[in-house]
Amino acid sequence: MNSDTYKAAIFRGAGSVDVVALPFPKCGDDEVIVRNLMTGVCGSDIAAYRRGGDLNMIWKDHEFGHEAVSEVVQIGKDVKGLELGDHIFPHLGYALRDRNRMSTVGGFSQYIKILQCEVGYSLFKIDNSIPTRTAVLVEPFVIGTRGGKESESRPRQVGDCVWRGYHRHVGRDHARLVGLFQGHDCRHL
Ligand SMILES: [Zn+2]
Repeated sequence: MNSDTYKAAIFRGAGSVDVVALPFPKCGDDEVIVRNLMTGVCGSDIAAYRRGGDLNMIWKDHEFGHEAVSEVVQIGKDVKGLELGDHIFPHLGYALRDRNRMSTVGGFSQYIKILQCEVGYSLFKIDNSIPTRTAVLVEPFVIGTRGGKESESRPRQVGDCVWRGYHRHVGRDHARLVGLFQGHDCRHL
């Protein structure tokens, strides 16, 4: 392993993950390289490890992990609105410009290359003063909040009590997470 490579976690199927060295990505003019600071383990990651990943779009022989908080380490010359060292959340569906890769963004690897990077679309800036351990909750927080809202309008929906319980649990960190995004609308998540 040297600076020409980075460590990547590759999902190989149920019960199998490899850590391999991949070539360090080149940063194109409209691209950004981020270093992952911390990545949450989603229920879908656990399900994939136990039973295989296809149902959760965690594809065999791909990098995976999608609940990342990352730090900007390289910025292409055409990318606007970012500085080195900024903390960001890579958008699941748009960081790689491929909705099929939303669960295989690469959060369990050391680095991610953000393609055709647009701030507020491909990634969201996170206030650097928010502790990483709090910021990493952003994806489950948004899902829990949205699930809670949806279950309020459909109270008899199956799974309602699960969502409500989850919402309450995540709600303990609500005050710290409000204002997490700098001027962006969480509905895009
Ligand atoms: Zn998740």
